[in-house]
Amino acid sequence: RPVIALASARKVYRSGTIEFEALRGIDLEIFEGEYVAIMGPSGSGKSTIMNILGCLDTLTSGSYRLGGDDVDDLDEIDLAEVRNQRIGFVFQQFNLLPSLPAWKNVELPMIYGRVPREERKERAQRALERVGLGDRFANRPGELSGGQQQRVAVARALVGEPTMILADEPTGNLDSVSTRDVLGLFDELHDLGRTIVLITHEIEVAERARRIVWVRDGQIVKDEVNAA
Ligand code: ADP
Ligand code: ADP
Repeated sequence: RPVIALASARKVYRSGTIEFEALRGIDLEIFEGEYVAIMGPSGSGKSTIMNILGCLDTLTSGSYRLGGDDVDDLDEIDLAEVRNQRIGFVFQQFNLLPSLPAWKNVELPMIYGRVPREERKERAQRALERVGLGDRFANRPGELSGGQQQRVAVARALVGEPTMILADEPTGNLDSVSTRDVLGLFDELHDLGRTIVLITHEIEVAERARRIVWVRDGQIVKDEVNAA
């Protein structure tokens, strides 16, 4: 059974009398442990897919099942809970809180998940070790390089053991060395059995995934196992 299933997914944006169909019937199944890139040019619908998969927005029609549950009919509050408990986000801009040390950034998803304080700290430490930043526990984001900040964000994404790690252009702000570093980390997480969905417009990044889903004008135009 797929952990992620979009069926006949449509998204229509409305402003006033103008309508725009950003997703035009998407069928997509992703299984546990898969490492999938969603790839397409600017305007193809990647952010819209990201917002749907991440429970940040809902479909106009069609269905989205996450971990076997229908998320279409959830209200804002339940959607926020699903988002916090089941999805580990990694964004282009890192989205770390600058005033908090690395470990406090990493423990945030567990605060929403009501994990006890001591356990949060231990798990944050282990997640930071997992991404190679065990010695940066107490550093604030501003004291870390871009690549290190993104690794903190990855630690935050995985600490709650989410159903999927959803990464939106995670290397868009990184130099080539840090890009290699962060993509290497995704390889390791994939080897550990994590489900990873990587959204990107860069073919070099998409080619690191095991499967590439090509999107164009709101539709899937190709879905292939990546032989590379
Ligand atoms: P991508 O991430 O691939 O650049 P998007 O999902 O952001 O694509 O956008 C897909 C299409 O939907 C684009 O034509 C974009 O202009 C349009 N779009 C995105 N968000 C909105 C919105 N809130 N209102 C109207 N149109 C939107
Ligand atoms: P990205 O760089 O991730 O593709 P965009 O620059 O396409 O993002 O969009 C940034 C934000 O603006 C998104 O939240 C998207 O939904 C919104 N947006 C994009 N296109 C439009 C549009 N034509 N009208 C209104 N909002 C839009």
